[in-house]
Parts: sequence; structure tokens; C-alpha cells
Amino acid sequence: MIEDMNLLSNGLTLQADLCIIGAGAAGILIAREFLGTNRKIVLLESGGIRSEITARHLHEGEVHDRSFRGLQNGRSRGFGGTTTLWGGQCIPLDPIDFEERPWVPSSGWPISANKLGPYYARAKRALEITNADADRSAWEQFGLDPILYDQATLRPIHGVFIKRPDLGRRFHKEFSNAQHIHVLLHANVTQLRTNGYGTRIETAEIRSLDGKVGIVHAGLFVLCTGGIENARMLLLSNEINPSGLGNGRDLVGRYFQDHPCGRCATIETDRPKVLQIIIICFTAGQRAIFLKSR
Ligand SMILES: Cc1cc2nc3c(=O)[nH]c(=O)nc-3n(C[C@H](O)[C@H](O)[C@H](O)COP(=O)(O)OP(=O)(O)OC[C@H]3O[C@@H](n4cnc5c(N)ncnc54)[C@H](O)[C@@H]3O)c2cc1C
Repeated sequence: MIEDMNLLSNGLTLQADLCIIGAGAAGILIAREFLGTNRKIVLLESGGIRSEITARHLHEGEVHDRSFRGLQNGRSRGFGGTTTLWGGQCIPLDPIDFEERPWVPSSGWPISANKLGPYYARAKRALEITNADADRSAWEQFGLDPILYDQATLRPIHGVFIKRPDLGRRFHKEFSNAQHIHVLLHANVTQLRTNGYGTRIETAEIRSLDGKVGIVHAGLFVLCTGGIENARMLLLSNEINPSGLGNGRDLVGRYFQDHPCGRCATIETDRPKVLQIIIICFTAGQRAIFLKSR
């Protein structure tokens, strides 16, 4: 069921087994895992069924000391989240992304690439990425002979572009018909409230831009509002711990990264469509070379 908070009575109270906050790539795919079960899921989305200018104002902010245009251009509010803008290119993280590298300050994750294996398998199933898509050589698809490169230092990676990348449009019907998944649009989470020790989220306060307020009680909460908004929500939820929720080590909201782009080559082809389906990316250590169509 999909409902609009603006059309419901003020003072709404919802009860769920699981409350997912944010209906973008992460939130929609997690919620879909519960289709056909009898778990009661609430999926809260700040925007409407489509991205709206009014909701986009909530993305405003200041960036100090850096040039970054992604606050507005790189995010979307509405059912589907930023998948309404993305290219839909799926490339798994590399083992080295998780490793500590002396030349990258504060690098290293507490999990390894192997740990993600089973979850990648589920995500691929949900997005209908087959092994044939992933394994088929890009050279073969271009109808080219592989170019010569130093195989000791470079390695090609084949990215796959999914079909129907706007996950809001793609799964809209499933959620409209879902009995136990309640999607609530225009429901902005403004505060997470915890138990007295600050160790467990118990409720989420919601508010629409039209002034409706409500509360969601759930056994578990999953934050899927994107890297910036997740941090913002945790930092704002500072009722028990003044430095914010889960921020005992002062790390929430730090280490943001962007992907830098630069032009490195031009490919002349009479089959540009093929280049748009598959991009070849060479990686050497931490450097990546994408060969991309103009
Ligand atoms: C132009 C462009 C191209 C891209 N291309 C690619 C690509 O090819 N491959 C790739 O892997 N990635 C790509 N990305 C990045 C990708 O889109 C994001 O990494 C991905 O969508 C993040 O998913 P998410 O679920 O974390 O957040 P989002 O998809 O941004 O979803 C977050 C949702 O949370 C909602 N929300 C926010 N705050 C609140 C709140 N307080 N209460 C309730 N709801 C809230 C938002 O409205 C939104 O719907 C691209 C991005 C852009 C802009």
C-alpha cells in the first residue's frame, strides 16, 4: 500500500516490525525482501511518488573548502530516490577498497569484500543482473580485439548497466499491491528517539512539509536516506548523547568521498549504443581508467 501523509489525519501513529527510512536504492531493495511475508514493514519517504522541487529544498546546504555540486545535483527526493537520476551501472567493490593502504589515510574497513558476496548475489537477483551480463567480455560486445596493455599492472573491469534503472517506477506496482508493506510518502523523519541508554531506536518522528506530524514505533529501524542524510539524522538525534546517535567515536559524517572524473581517451565508433551499454574500466592499484563514450 502506498499512502500520502499529507492526505491522512494529523497525529498519525504507526506500528511496525521494521521501519525503513528512505525509499531509494537501498530502502526499496531491502523492503522488497519482505514482499510476501507477514512482517509489518513501514517504508517512509520524504518526497512524493516523483521528485518534487519543494522536497528538493531540503537538500540545501553549504560545502566549505571544497568544490562540490552534488548536494542538489547528485541527489533526488521521491519514491526511487537517486535511482531516478542514476545511470544504473553496477560494479562490485574491489577487495582493495576494504584494505588498509598506508598511502591512504584512515583506510581499511572492519569487513572484507568476501563478507559482501552473499548480499551481492541477492542484489544481482533483485536487479536481474545475470552472470552472462557480468562475465561476457566487453571486447566481445564491442566486436573488438582486446587492446594491448600491461597485464601486470592493469586489469579490465566490466560494468553492467541494469535495465529499467528507476527503481521507483520499476517496483511501484509491487508496493501498491503489497499487503504488509506500508509506503508513506511526504513523511520526513526529523528525529529518532531511543531508549534511555541511547542504545536502541524506539520511535521515529515524522513531519510533512504541509505541517502534518506523526510517529512510527518499530522493533527495528534501517536508515536508507543516503550517505549525507543518514549522518545528518544521526547527528540531529542528540537527545541522549549530545554528539548524536551512534557517534561515540566522533566518526559520523566524516570521510565523505566523491568520484573524481577526468577525460583520458576518445573512442571513435559507428556503434555508440554498445559503448553506452558497457563501459570498460581499467584499474591499477587505486587508480581507475574508464573508457567511456562521448
Ligand atoms: C547522475 C547520477 C548518476 C549516478 N550513476 C550511478 C551509477 O551508474 N551506478 C551507481 O552505482 N551509482 C550511481 N549514482 C549514485 C547512486 O544513485 C546512489 O549511490 C544511490 O542511489 C544511493 O542509494 P541510497 O538508497 O543510499 O540513497 P538514495 O537513492 O538517494 O535514496 C535516499 C532516499 O531517502 C529519502 N530521504 C532523505 N532524507 C529523508 C528523511 N529525513 N526522511 C525520509 N526519507 C528521506 C530521499 O528522498 C530518497 O528517496 C549516480 C548518481 C547520480 C546523481
